[in-house]
Amino acid sequence: MTDQAPHSIKPTTSSESSLYAASQRIHPRKVKGANRTAKTAIAWISILIVALVPWLRWDRGAGHPDQAVLFDFVAMRAHFFNTEIWPQEFYFLTGILVIASIGLFLVTALYGRVWCGFACPQTVWTDIFVWIEDMVEGDRNARLKLDRAPWSAGKIAKKVVKHGAWLAVSLFTSASFLFFFNDAPTSAKGLLTGEAGIVLYGFVAFFGFMTYMMAGWAREQMCIYMCPWPRFQGAMLDQDSVVVSYDERRGEGRAHARVGQSFEGRGHCVDCRMCVQVCPVGIDIRDGIQMECIGCGLCADACDSVMPRFGLPQNLVGWRPFAHTAAETATPKRPWHRRPRLIVYGAIILVTLAGMAVAGGQRKLLDMNVLHDRSPVSVMLSDGSIRNDYTLKIINRERAVRHLRLAVDGLADGQVEVQDLGRSNDGRTLVAAPDDVTLYRVSVRRPAGQTAGDVIPVEFRLIDLATGQESTRSTTFISGSEQ
Ligand code: SF4
Ligand code: SF4
Repeated sequence: MTDQAPHSIKPTTSSESSLYAASQRIHPRKVKGANRTAKTAIAWISILIVALVPWLRWDRGAGHPDQAVLFDFVAMRAHFFNTEIWPQEFYFLTGILVIASIGLFLVTALYGRVWCGFACPQTVWTDIFVWIEDMVEGDRNARLKLDRAPWSAGKIAKKVVKHGAWLAVSLFTSASFLFFFNDAPTSAKGLLTGEAGIVLYGFVAFFGFMTYMMAGWAREQMCIYMCPWPRFQGAMLDQDSVVVSYDERRGEGRAHARVGQSFEGRGHCVDCRMCVQVCPVGIDIRDGIQMECIGCGLCADACDSVMPRFGLPQNLVGWRPFAHTAAETATPKRPWHRRPRLIVYGAIILVTLAGMAVAGGQRKLLDMNVLHDRSPVSVMLSDGSIRNDYTLKIINRERAVRHLRLAVDGLADGQVEVQDLGRSNDGRTLVAAPDDVTLYRVSVRRPAGQTAGDVIPVEFRLIDLATGQESTRSTTFISGSEQ
């Protein structure tokens, strides 16, 4: 008889396998091919954009930033060459984000995770870090051997050089990224001379550390476990999306082969595992389409380099419509206009672009916002007249001072009183600072004895005294009094 309860949980012993496998360091093999060439070209373009764009200069006149691309949080402006986006025009940035997101959906529907495999900063910077590792520690076999070797002076030296280079690239990337938000020459000089503020140093250290960790240590773990995109990118694919896949009907049954042997009655895969060894996420594409696959196409390059050696056609692993892997025969590719998701994504992008174009066309160099005081909304004065107070925000997008006159229409015998008119010489003119928002407090008074309704629509009208240009804004005058 046993004293063990029938449903007790058996304690785990150290000899039993754990539910969790420790992650294995992946050392991808170098490979040549069309996909590798495209990835390298995109990596160079990305590096050049990050490193050089903040240094481009753009003359905007005295007293204005001369950086071509600048997100100036202090002045609350985004500058793109000749275009300047104000906080009031944030919908432009929203539009750009909508187009970028839907554009990503569209590209995914067309070519699977091609963004992840070729252009995502995580992929690009991981590629750079692996390239450095390869330069310092040697190719895949040398790196595997070095990892297994006991610690020695030579191994320590290689690791120190590699991590030093990774840190240098990380700090350079971090500083270059931050130059998009600060004047690049001033910030670079400050960082190098020790005169930069603690905040800038802190951000450089933070983003540098994150780059080092993500591209040096996390690598494919970031794509597999942390990035949400693989979880829902499958919803963007349809049967005609072109993805990297293994032609199972042609490749199986796989077996090792000798150069010159016949492939009659057997599969074309020679089981060399080159496609596995080059894979940056360490999967076997022959197991089918997998969530971990970032669509980089390096396995296709590897297999394409193997096939000719055996006199076999390339494209055993390659880009083909998704349906080809799921069905016995390849489904004919539908034209784009018979793929509803492409039409929907394209339509959203076009509508957003049109909206931005219309908004851009209506952009005014002189604009205003009128904010009605909420508490109290209206005041009855001792003579029976009623007063409403407003905050007037004058938006002057010109780089010159404007002199303006304010009129309020829609209120019979209404009187307008603007505070702070001491800024002008004549005491009647509103002065709007150049390329800035200028605030005024405005009181509108309706004489006693008028019988109009409780809420009267009124219109504020600003007139530029030099050009006659007008800007109007509708608001209300509320006559229900509060004491
Ligand atoms: S399976 Fe191929 S396409 Fe997918 S991540 Fe690996 S190498 Fe890239
Ligand atoms: S590289 Fe091609 S031949 Fe070699 S194992 Fe992969 S699929 Fe088979």
